[in-house]
Amino acid sequence: MERKAFQLGDIVQMKKNHPCGSNEMEIIRMGMDIRIKCVGCKHSVLVPRAKFEKNMRKVLRSAAPEVEGTAQDGQ
Ligand SMILES: [Zn+2]
Repeated sequence: MERKAFQLGDIVQMKKNHPCGSNEMEIIRMGMDIRIKCVGCKHSVLVPRAKFEKNMRKVLRSAAPEVEGTAQDGQ
């Protein structure tokens, strides 16, 4: 099973578009629940982690800098 990696500050793409038309969300708070902010209209919502993981499609832009020196992908 593929595990989705995400962290605070990431821009993620959701499976469903926000009513404003954007489907990009920024993770602005993480805990038991995750608070995400719509990139399009800046509206923020709090969703349970399980629901978030289910509704997230992928991480578009990670807030984490690329970790160097971990050439494990056959570079
Ligand atoms: Zn929106």
